[in-house]
Amino acid sequence: NQKKRPIILGNWKMNKSLKEGVQYARSLKAAIAGKTWIMCGICPPYVFLKDICAILEGSTICVSAQNMHSEASGAFTGEIAAPMLKEVGCSHVLVGHSERRHIFGEDDFFINDKIKKAISFELVPILCIGETLEEREAGNTKDIVLRQLKNGLRGVGIELIKCIIIAYEPVWAIGTGRTASPEQANEVHSFIRTILSEDYGKDIAKKLSIIYGGSVKADNTEALIHQPEIDGLLVGGASLELESFLTIIEVVQ
Ligand code: PEP
Repeated sequence: NQKKRPIILGNWKMNKSLKEGVQYARSLKAAIAGKTWIMCGICPPYVFLKDICAILEGSTICVSAQNMHSEASGAFTGEIAAPMLKEVGCSHVLVGHSERRHIFGEDDFFINDKIKKAISFELVPILCIGETLEEREAGNTKDIVLRQLKNGLRGVGIELIKCIIIAYEPVWAIGTGRTASPEQANEVHSFIRTILSEDYGKDIAKKLSIIYGGSVKADNTEALIHQPEIDGLLVGGASLELESFLTIIEVVQ
């Protein structure tokens, strides 16, 4: 079971000034040059995307938006559409992050529409799924993950699934300092891959990247990334300081 090129994504959420973001991107570009063993990316706030994409052009670092709307244009005040992200140079977009689901009330159907729209504009959607603490304690982790996965991917056929990354992010581990144990995470990743195998076939499922997020830090990176079913990491808080993000990247090496 050969490991894929690991994906390490830093989600800045609603943090940093433009000046700080630009400086970070410049330093990251210099630090990552030649490190071809990973696929590294950052998810800056919308208003920094154009500047940061320009800085990272020609590098191997991907720029991902943190969200998008499901329509390509229209009367949706305050929203951002897939072609706008594409135009400024984004290659990826987070879809269904738990903060979008739980703070902003996004449901599986809206998320599914976003996934399909992202693909149609050649953006790689990173579909985020994961259970709350209540759901885990009630023994419903697999039911929730199954529902979010199936609904999120509804209508995504065999030819398009290859364009998607899945991120398993247990809500109880996001920003809480409480990480899923490597075994707990691996178990859910394995479950996700089984579902994908049933729907898309074993070969395709094997090739899909399933990344883990939830209080990833330099000191738990090694154990997580060595799990057979974990293909990468989505890092929130620990990606904000460039030094700590680079340490995670070094550990993944
Ligand atoms: C995230 O934002 O997706 C995340 C996992 O955050 P943190 O690493 O801070 O838990």
